Amino acid sequence: MNKFFKSTVCAVAAVAMMAACFAGCSKKDDTAADTSSSEQKEVLIMATNATFPPYEYYDGEDIVGIDAEIGKAIADKLGMDFKIEDMEFNSIISYVNSGDNVMGMAGMTVSEDRKLQVDFSSSYANGVQVVIVKKDSDIKTVDDLAGKKIGVQLSTTGDIYATDDFGAEMVTQYNKATDCVLGLKNGDVDAVIIDNAPAQTFVAENDTLKLLETEYANEDYAICVKKGNTQLLDKINGALSELTADGTVKKIIDKYIPAK
Ligand code: GLN
Repeated sequence: MNKFFKSTVCAVAAVAMMAACFAGCSKKDDTAADTSSSEQKEVLIMATNATFPPYEYYDGEDIVGIDAEIGKAIADKLGMDFKIEDMEFNSIISYVNSGDNVMGMAGMTVSEDRKLQVDFSSSYANGVQVVIVKKDSDIKTVDDLAGKKIGVQLSTTGDIYATDDFGAEMVTQYNKATDCVLGLKNGDVDAVIIDNAPAQTFVAENDTLKLLETEYANEDYAICVKKGNTQLLDKINGALSELTADGTVKKIIDKYIPAK
């Protein structure tokens, strides 16, 4: 049965509220105290949700991870300053659409529905949707999820697929990936559908949890920009292809996801 393996995402029109906090962030413009002759650099903003290790997560006060490092390398290549804005995953697309120097980078899966709202760069990593359960769970395969309570992160592909496959009434949407895991540990949900890379981290940190061996879906991660912003998209794709060719992207991914 291949109903769990989706090549496209069913449309969920996320007419999210406009991010009003963006104005003024795209350029450093306070030059009053700057007597040097050097030009102010433009700022490339990375919109993300930093609860998604190892792609983006907090290390103390800093947001680190694969996306944070690739994003910084792209900004460096483009001669731009770099700033990360942390927000709910559900807000990233509307935030990206509110600015010209903003890229959404959040382990974000390319989907047909999202392509209607934003433009995507070439893919820089693969993702797999997996299922986390408690070690003593009677859920052994993806088929056993029917009739079970499933936790997902709001507006992620895991949310969209699970709602489609098992019905909205069976799906609990959390704002953060970490809250999905808490919901599972508390018994509020029976399983969590989430991307493999953060799932590995959460299972490693919680010895009562395990991953199902069967995968739920395969996906590509890419960077999104405002719909029609070909200027930024071309620059990002140019930087990405150089960073891929010289091994930087692989080095960063291998640093956070060591080969087994
Ligand atoms: N890859 C998933 C998606 O794009 C989840 C991403 C995330 O939670 N940061 O929907």
